[in-house]
Amino acid sequence: RHRAAFEAATSRGFVGGKVPLGIKRKGLRIVVTGGAGFVGSHLVDRLIARGDSVIVVDNFFTGRKENVMHHFGNPNFELIRHDVVEPLLLEVDQIYHLACPASPVHYKFNPVKTIISFSSSSLISSCCGLHKTNVVGTLNMLGLAKRVGARFLLTSTSEVYGDPLQHPQVETYWGNVNPIGVRSCYDEGKRTAETLTMDYHRGAQVEVRIARIFNTYGPRMCIDDGRVVSNFVAQALRKEPLTVYGDGKQTRSFQYVSDLVEGLMRLMEGEHVGPFNLGNPGEFTMLELANVVQETIDPNAKIEFRPNTEDDPHKRKPDITRAKELLGWEPKIPLRQGLPLMVSDFRKRIFGDHFDVNP
Ligand code: NAD
Ligand code: UDP
Ligand code: UDP
Repeated sequence: RHRAAFEAATSRGFVGGKVPLGIKRKGLRIVVTGGAGFVGSHLVDRLIARGDSVIVVDNFFTGRKENVMHHFGNPNFELIRHDVVEPLLLEVDQIYHLACPASPVHYKFNPVKTIISFSSSSLISSCCGLHKTNVVGTLNMLGLAKRVGARFLLTSTSEVYGDPLQHPQVETYWGNVNPIGVRSCYDEGKRTAETLTMDYHRGAQVEVRIARIFNTYGPRMCIDDGRVVSNFVAQALRKEPLTVYGDGKQTRSFQYVSDLVEGLMRLMEGEHVGPFNLGNPGEFTMLELANVVQETIDPNAKIEFRPNTEDDPHKRKPDITRAKELLGWEPKIPLRQGLPLMVSDFRKRIFGDHFDVNP
């Protein structure tokens, strides 16, 4: 099976997306799980523009058809409604595995499905999403990669560092995660997904790549998914107070989505397994972020303090030395430049005056 897949791939001039020198690159067949979501849909745009054939696999749990419908009718684009927790047979060269509800509102309400993602029992399905997706979903996509000899990229997260005791975080840091807390379905789910990815790499010679993504924002983010940038922007536009949790002194580093997509593609095409931190090292407290949102949207927007959530990491900032050196990548768009691009998309979606599905 593997030999046949290998020969099929080499006859097209590449294996796992690697193009030998002197051979003209042909379009690749690429599956993007979670491709109807925020990050996935921007990645799909870039891959299609590059001339690849893209299959999006998505169960629309947090994604939207509107994010990809501008590709409907393009013979290089296919959309499959499918839950990655169920096995899937496809013939592809690369797998970008993004499927996973990334927002705290979704994973706190459906923790089991975050690590694993079943629909069989009502008990399980009500509290069971992220875990199943991260474990069984990742296992299935690795099984697919193994069967067809495809290169597999996992979108892991800075949350694997938990509430970090090292600052900024380097990839060699093992993290400080509470295994039984409210966030652990996400953190531990992604940690297990990283483990599975390395097991398939070492044990089954699957070509793998691991990205650890730090907080990312941009057009097409879910409007009401509870993440801080989308909350503040939507609140300021709706003339509601900006809800700062805790004392607002906790920090995050915010990356614009096009920078992330560039990093993911360089990682997939490059020679290094990783893990690689992909994030913008610009660090902001939540109060500073609220101030930037005020400057950008409404200087009169009020700030309202709310109790913080359990196990909230106090600070987070990527060390991106490894990605700079080995991928030649670093983010280009600072927060003050990226935020207005997101605001115009949110304005259109909230007020609906000239709704644009392709921001
Ligand atoms: P998103 O919620 O917009 O996209 C996730 C997509 O996966 C959605 O379209 C959803 O419908 C789909 N999905 C979820 N469960 C699925 C399942 N079981 N089967 C098939 N499809 C499923 O989130 P995003 O921000 O675009 O995140 C994409 C990836 O990047 C995720 O893996 C996330 O963990 C990772 N990540 C994102 C951030 C960020 O700040 N956006 C940070 C760290 C990591
Ligand atoms: N799998 C899949 N698509 C494939 C190949 C495998 O969804 O093209 C799933 C398969 O159903 C299994 C998982 O991936 O649940 C792991 O597959 P693998 O072959 O590694 O393990 P095995 O099936 O031998 O347990
Ligand atoms: N947060 C906030 N107000 C909100 C939503 C979130 O102050 O309306 C805080 C949250 O407590 C956390 C930070 O913003 O400290 C980032 O939260 P988010 O859920 O966006 O990302 P994550 O915690 O996963 O990094």
